[in-house]
Amino acid sequence: MTDFSLHGKTALVTGASGGLGLHFAHVLAENGARVVVAARRDDKITKAADDIRSNGGDALAVVMDVSDENSVNQAFATVENEFGAVDIIVNNAGIATNGAAVDVSLDDFRRVMATNVDGAFLVSRRAADTWIKEKKAGNIINIGSILGIRTAGGVLPYAVSKSGLHQMTKVLALEWARHRIRVNAIAPGYIETDINRDYLNSLEGEKLIKRIPVRRPGDMADLDGPLLLLASDLSLYMTGSVVAVDGGHLVNTL
Ligand code: NDP
Repeated sequence: MTDFSLHGKTALVTGASGGLGLHFAHVLAENGARVVVAARRDDKITKAADDIRSNGGDALAVVMDVSDENSVNQAFATVENEFGAVDIIVNNAGIATNGAAVDVSLDDFRRVMATNVDGAFLVSRRAADTWIKEKKAGNIINIGSILGIRTAGGVLPYAVSKSGLHQMTKVLALEWARHRIRVNAIAPGYIETDINRDYLNSLEGEKLIKRIPVRRPGDMADLDGPLLLLASDLSLYMTGSVVAVDGGHLVNTL
């Protein structure tokens, strides 16, 4: 039982136009999955799907704003028309704001919730609707964060949204187990991407890295093993789990 192969499976990744989502789309395709790359920026997802196809994979780009129910429904209609029901959803689309809680506007708070929480809910519910109607097994992987488990200043809406996403993972796992739908989450620590590279190389960033027990931020590739474990049938008995991938950041010393 060591087969991480995803041959014959279709995976839909939200927020696949850049960063972790784009990386996940490539990793899933390299391991045999047919991949639907979804996000708002059409040019980026079209390029991502082209790149996957030129590497020998199979991919479809579909514009989807996860915070907009009509957009989610339209995107699923296109995907199901083209590929049939998907097998795996990676709810990766996410945004963050920075600033002291007292300065956070209600608009910013709601914007973060709309993408990180409403988005995962709308996509999961739409996927499950087809799976339940077709009596087909399904698999959802939510991309949470260690900020949904521990605390930090200046990221109130983000931390609250990721904590909500972790709880959504558990409640949906409970409700949908009877339908053979698994729901798990990955809670990454600080993973070096374009958005945080400058910060991680700053003095503040250096201080943060000293608080990570393994003394380095994660690479995107550090998430590949956990992603493939949760996406493949090797984790058939896992549901409702929130798997931290953080170099030990959550267990740093008091
Ligand atoms: P990026 O900002 O690089 O990517 C975010 C992606 O989400 C983009 O592709 C963007 O695409 C998409 N997105 C944003 N809003 C929407 C929307 N309304 N509908 C559809 N897609 C949307 O971030 P990362 O790659 O770093 O983060 C990806 C996920 O990983 C997020 O959920 C983040 O919280 C989580 N994470 C990241 C960590 C890190 O250290 N990088 C650590 C822990 C968790 P577009 O604009 O084209 O729609």
